[in-house]
Formats: sequence, C-alpha cells, structure tokens
Amino acid sequence: MAQKIVAGNWKMNLELNEAKDLIKGIKNSQDDVRVIVFPSSVFINVVAEGKNDNVEVGTQNFHTELKGAFTGELSISQLRSAGATVGLIGHSERRAFFSEGNDLIKIKVNAAVANNFDFIFCCGEPLMIREAGKELEFIKMQLEESLFHLTKEQMMGKVIAYEPVWAIGTGMTASSDQAERMHRAIRTWIHERYDHETAQNVSILYGGSCNQDNAKELFSCPNVDGGLIGGASLKGEAFCTIIDSY
Ligand code: PEP
Repeated sequence: MAQKIVAGNWKMNLELNEAKDLIKGIKNSQDDVRVIVFPSSVFINVVAEGKNDNVEVGTQNFHTELKGAFTGELSISQLRSAGATVGLIGHSERRAFFSEGNDLIKIKVNAAVANNFDFIFCCGEPLMIREAGKELEFIKMQLEESLFHLTKEQMMGKVIAYEPVWAIGTGMTASSDQAERMHRAIRTWIHERYDHETAQNVSILYGGSCNQDNAKELFSCPNVDGGLIGGASLKGEAFCTIIDSY
C-alpha cells in the first residue's frame, strides 16, 4: 500500500523565531501518516532539533554534486547532516523561476537515488495546457523525461506530487474529480511502465491550494495519498487539521 503523506512547503517564508514557533505546534498523532515540513534550508537544523516525534524535515532544493566549488549551493550530504531526510524535486516554482527543466530534474532524481536520499517528485501543468485539454500528455511527458528511467527497485515507495500550476497559491483548488482523474492516470502509467506492485507502492500527493477546508474531500479520493501544502502549512493549527483529515 502507498504511504499516506502530508507535507508542508514553507517556501521562502518565516524568520528564525517564527520557524521555531511553527514547528513546536506541529504534531502528528496519526501512526500511519508520514508528516514532513520543508523550511528554508538555513533553518533545517533548528527545525529538526525543535520538531516533535513523527515529523520529518526536508529540503526545498539541493545541488546534484556532493561537494566542491559550487558557491551558494547545498549538497545532499550537508543537508542530511543538518537533519533533512527528504528533498523536493521539480517544484513548479523552481521550474518557472530557476529554469529547471526535465533534464536537470532527471539529474537531481539520479543524485537523490545514488545517495539514498528520499524525494518528492513534483509535476503539474500550467493553465494554458489545462485549457487546451492536454494536461494528461503534459504530465506523462514530465514523468517519462525525468522519473520513469528508474528501475522497478528504485521506483518502489517513491513519492510523486501532482500540483497543477494554476492551483498553486491561487485559491483555485482542483476539484476532487480533477485530482482523482490525474492521480488515477499517473498510477496507470506506473502500472504500464512497471507493474501492479510498483503502482500500488508509489504515493501520489495532491498540491495546489489544499487547506483545512478541502483536504478531507481531496484525501478521500481513492488515488490521492495525501497532500503537499504551501500556504496552509504556515499556520500550525490549519496544518494539524489537514494531518488529521485522515
Ligand atoms: C506548493 O507550492 O507546493 C503548494 C501546493 O502551494 P499552495 O498550497 O499555497 O497552493
């Protein structure tokens, strides 16, 4: 069975004391739900020290090399030593603002796999693609170009977040029908590329204006295994309500 996950992407928000306060209030009382928060890298250490049990800390980004002359960058081994256990790859904001294309994202996937570092692979279509009715082809291409080269063994237990770009930070949540249709398609493609066992073991999260009011409905879709939450993860109470939506 796919692991249920609720993850909070804090993006470039919060200062040190705010991050410390927020993490104190995040509690996970659901034994079968994995909870991860992604603070700014500079706070990973203190957030990892201040977190409650059953909460993990992740990194919003990492460099593909482990060390060397890459001024301003952070490696998987550095981030791991600070307390990060998982990284985001392919978030639409990194694709849009930092020119991360499918090729670089594939290299990041390979770096994470080679270093035994968990990741959440983000994919999502822009509004224009959705309006043209081409969202299924678009997402399939993102997966094929950056993720589906992994072997079955590597793919087992991986995590994909479907985050339609038009829903991120806009308040325009995908309907549960729209989310379920895409998640079902993603699981079908994993089945076709790998097999039934792999498809059932990959977690597929929804992201895009998911909040305490709509999480229950979204999470009740058969192929939605949890959420990647932006704005609503910055409020402890709202984020805990989302965790408890299971
Ligand atoms: C995100 O950036 O991953 C996200 C889902 O943001 P929001 O929940 O604010 O739409």
